[in-house]
Amino acid sequence: MIVAIDGPAGAGKSSVARALAARLGFKYLDTGAMYRALTWLALHEGVPLDDGPALEALAAANPVGFGVDGGVSIAGRDVTRQIREPEIDAAVPVVARHPEVRVVMRERQRELGRSGDSVIEGRDIGVVVAPDAEVKVWLVADPTVRARRRHAEREGADPDELAAELRRRDERDAVNTHQAPDAVELDTTDLTLGEVVERVAGLVADVR
Ligand code: C5P
Repeated sequence: MIVAIDGPAGAGKSSVARALAARLGFKYLDTGAMYRALTWLALHEGVPLDDGPALEALAAANPVGFGVDGGVSIAGRDVTRQIREPEIDAAVPVVARHPEVRVVMRERQRELGRSGDSVIEGRDIGVVVAPDAEVKVWLVADPTVRARRRHAEREGADPDELAAELRRRDERDAVNTHQAPDAVELDTTDLTLGEVVERVAGLVADVR
């Protein structure tokens, strides 16, 4: 079974998807981490971010790896920490916009999703990557709360700058962000992580 968790940055996707996967004993797939790792590699190797075919080749030759501890690796390097840097936040939508890159990523995501029960989080899972997912959730949250959550992860950062960054990234990602018509929308603004996980686990129980 596939549980698709989509929504904008800071809506709570990663925390919810990770906790839900642990609770259900499902695999957890963070598709954003895959685009982040490719972006890190492109910057590291000096591949121009506007060169779709070069990025496609880079992605095809360097599948992103996920460790059992949640670590992310690419091209033999552990990039778990590096892919969360602001430099990657700013560059990743440019890389993710290339249709050729998305084709490579999508195939890999489908392959990983097919290898057992999975919770897959991203922005286009319920519509593009896994339109047949048995459970689809669209997470949203108030922009102030989203910026506050990001602030908790980025000590010392300016909250206004973080809010502006989230807004900018949403705009740049809009073209590849899709809410499935059959997704259940959950507003996480006033819910705890446990409450959101509880609700999604309930949706999974309904279809099992
Ligand atoms: O979810 P996260 O913020 O880590 O995603 C990082 C970036 O990866 C997004 O800003 C977006 O550009 C890209 N992305 C995407 N499609 C997905 C997941 C992420 O284009 N399914």
